Amino acid sequence: MIVRDGPQVTQAMIEVEAIPTLRDNYVWALHDGNHAVLVDPGESAPIVTWLSSRGLHLAAILVTHHHADHVGGIAGLLARHDAPVFGPTRGTAPSRSVADGDILELPGLDASVTVISTPGHTLDHVCYVGEGRLFCGDTLFSCGCGRLFEGSPAQMHASLERLAALPGDTRVYCAHEYTLANIAFALEVEPDNAALRERRREALALRKAGLPTLPVSLARERDCNPFLRCGEASIRVAASQHAGCPVTAGVETFAVIRAWKDEE
Ligand code: ZN
Ligand code: FE
Repeated sequence: MIVRDGPQVTQAMIEVEAIPTLRDNYVWALHDGNHAVLVDPGESAPIVTWLSSRGLHLAAILVTHHHADHVGGIAGLLARHDAPVFGPTRGTAPSRSVADGDILELPGLDASVTVISTPGHTLDHVCYVGEGRLFCGDTLFSCGCGRLFEGSPAQMHASLERLAALPGDTRVYCAHEYTLANIAFALEVEPDNAALRERRREALALRKAGLPTLPVSLARERDCNPFLRCGEASIRVAASQHAGCPVTAGVETFAVIRAWKDEE
């Protein structure tokens, strides 16, 4: 909290930075220049370095699901820092297990997030939304979505519909840099989507400059991401052609294009 002259109190600005880890994971770090909250630390070494180079105090860890590339760094971080872990129970032994609808006051930061349960990639997967930001782990990727390791197409489709219903200016922070590969597939499904081609140009330029393609606005994802567009005729027709039989809009279309992407 920064107290300025006079009666007005201005809240410290919260910044969100990407810490690249493992092959293509991002650990998202929310910080106010003093305290940091991390999302999905898959390894500890680069994060320990990042925290100390900025002189930040680890205030909390948020976990979206139990996969090793999202939780593998927790033990190493807790060996050096005393911080609570918020997440689903399985595989992580969180200090506070979370459930759909929980509102979490982020320790150290003047901010809160709401938990959204999003089964599909795994059954325990949760997302965190607050202050116009969505931390969606492996549920939603830019122009793609997570593989269905545990949930059904119906579960994942419902989870994605919940995320898609958030305000269009929500900034989406995915856990992997998969954007260009996802766009290549999305253009197979929807070659005439001008917004998607524009997103491809932008993503290519960002990657060439060594920058993340994230965050991205939810409005752009609704325009570009085939997995959020299963109600559109263009996607349904492509899915029907791929399946070799007519499929209905919504879950059926989602199931066909998710399986189609798995074949690639
Ligand atoms: Zn995962
Ligand atoms: Fe992952």
